[in-house]
Amino acid sequence: MPASRLYRLNTAEWTLDYSAAVQLQNPGEPFPGWCPCYLIEHPEGLVLFDTGVSREMAADPEGYGPTGAPHMAELLQTLDLSVGRSPVEWLAELGYEPSDVDHVVLSHLHVDHAGNVDAFPDAEVIVGKRELRYAFWPDGVQRLFYLDGDFAPLRAPGREVTAVTGEHDVFGDGSVVSFPTPGHTPGHRSLAVDLGSTSVLLAGDVANSRAGYEEGLVASFAWSLEDSLESIRRVKDRARAADAEVIVHHDPEDQSKLPDPPEALE
Ligand SMILES: [Zn+2]
Repeated sequence: MPASRLYRLNTAEWTLDYSAAVQLQNPGEPFPGWCPCYLIEHPEGLVLFDTGVSREMAADPEGYGPTGAPHMAELLQTLDLSVGRSPVEWLAELGYEPSDVDHVVLSHLHVDHAGNVDAFPDAEVIVGKRELRYAFWPDGVQRLFYLDGDFAPLRAPGREVTAVTGEHDVFGDGSVVSFPTPGHTPGHRSLAVDLGSTSVLLAGDVANSRAGYEEGLVASFAWSLEDSLESIRRVKDRARAADAEVIVHHDPEDQSKLPDPPEALE
């Protein structure tokens, strides 16, 4: 059974130096990246793919989570929340409560993807097992992007977390499938969505820009260059086989291929 609708819900725009977002390209130029999440309606349940940036964190980085994130203060100077909304606000606009979400599927646990997870305490969270473990003890520059305020709530008693390794078919019918695309982070995953008349492949951060995706230029802070390039190839192969449109997560032009809410891709 295919999924019925896919909504793209932008939570913010975050501007990085272009050469950080896309390996050594255009140093000194801005790269204004969207930070969306996606709502997928399926006859058997509601899926949220990624949860965007936490407004609570943006308002008080030092007080965020068990250990705080004071280093975010500088990075937050280029975060523009006015262009987006929180996933909870978006859901309300579409007539849903947070408790209506059955599954939260995460591409990875970086700050621009896994904020707001605590807003969905009733949902099953589907996340890469390796990602979960790495998030608590990342290496070097990766430490900047993993905030325990985002993912510590997943350790709460009674929280339903499904830590996955290989492919994971959310409804068991091939319509919403999370698959491993490591490289940006160790447990990074992308999502294939079959809407019947059309198919979309939400690539996540296998690359940050369309040009980077085409040319194999990934984020300068990627965990593994070799794995990143293999994952880009995996996404391309899969998209070709399914005749799916690939959406590069932070690329504004790619995001413009999806309708603005309340319109959805059907
Ligand atoms: Zn990202």
